Amino acid sequence: MSVQTFDPRTILRDELSELSAYSPSTGHFDVRLDANEAPPLLSPAARRQLSEISSKALFERYPDAGQKDLRKAIAKSMGVEPSEVLAGVGSDEIITLLLTVATRTKKHARVPTILTTTPTFVMYRLSARVRGQRVVEVPLDADWDLSVDSMLTAIEMSEPNVVFIASPNNPTGTMMSRDRLETVIRAAKNSLVVVDEAYVDYSDRTQLDLLRSYENVAILRTLSKVGFAALRVGWLVAKSSLIAELDKARLPYNLPSVSQALASFVLTDLRAELDATIEAVQRERERVALALAKIRGVEVAPSQANFLWLSLPGSAEETYEALKKRSVLVRSFHGRGGRLERCLRVTIGTPEQNDRFLEALAASV
Ligand code: PMP
Repeated sequence: MSVQTFDPRTILRDELSELSAYSPSTGHFDVRLDANEAPPLLSPAARRQLSEISSKALFERYPDAGQKDLRKAIAKSMGVEPSEVLAGVGSDEIITLLLTVATRTKKHARVPTILTTTPTFVMYRLSARVRGQRVVEVPLDADWDLSVDSMLTAIEMSEPNVVFIASPNNPTGTMMSRDRLETVIRAAKNSLVVVDEAYVDYSDRTQLDLLRSYENVAILRTLSKVGFAALRVGWLVAKSSLIAELDKARLPYNLPSVSQALASFVLTDLRAELDATIEAVQRERERVALALAKIRGVEVAPSQANFLWLSLPGSAEETYEALKKRSVLVRSFHGRGGRLERCLRVTIGTPEQNDRFLEALAASV
């Protein structure tokens, strides 16, 4: 009997053919500074408390579908109401959830449109394209800040449903100027402006107060960058009427019980541990930035995040490969062309990892 053949592409959306799966580099590297994770600084006492909490999980039961305790803990830690909070499997899930439902077409925009900057976090584009949406990307200016005029034109022309602005931005580490951000938010009065604060714990200010002045603002946060990427817990803070609508589309048991319990504990009882990690990273960030500035031709963007964005005298691809040969993995965006051809992103690690990186870089540029 012959096999009945089936080409999955006949039922899949066209946009998939233009995308590749998100795949962090595999293979062994002594020093991995490619994913903006925090260095492993958790105290043994905190680790013990976390295992005790995990061991008490009701493994036979579904998780709390309403994320009640977690929402309460998040709300308390941020000074907002639990009804203004929605938690997801990382902030990635919240991005996909937003793009699943914010799909109403506008007068001129026949397909739902998102607006974002470039370079920025790739998931905004990926999630939107997977859903067949249009992505409008406005280049950041020479200082990696918002280009206000271009953003305003793009808002007017493209009528985006959602505007994503990461601040501090990935991969540049820069925070968007407050006045520029507010100008964009005011202009985008018919859009939801998601201010993605994934890295805000490492910066000297937050933009949370925007929520109280602009109903079209939502703030995105995560535990991934401050030492708890393994939990996959991120959240959105927004007007409660928006949260209630998003909740209808959220999978009921999206967040595992263990993640909910551990994240609640981290936010409530491990604040001092988080602060210690954040301070250690900030100290190292300053040290590494100073050391890099001494390497001829290397420029470092002012970072408000747990990574640095370097501009090199030569090709980023070559330096990236040379670092890999020395078993140091960083992140390069050389495939994207333009000014990114000379830029590398390096996560701040432990002092030893950072030293290995600095030595390897000095030998590679
Ligand atoms: N936003 C930004 C700006 C990021 O850089 C990342 C992680 N690379 C995320 C969101 C996603 O974080 P997570 O899904 O781990 O919460």
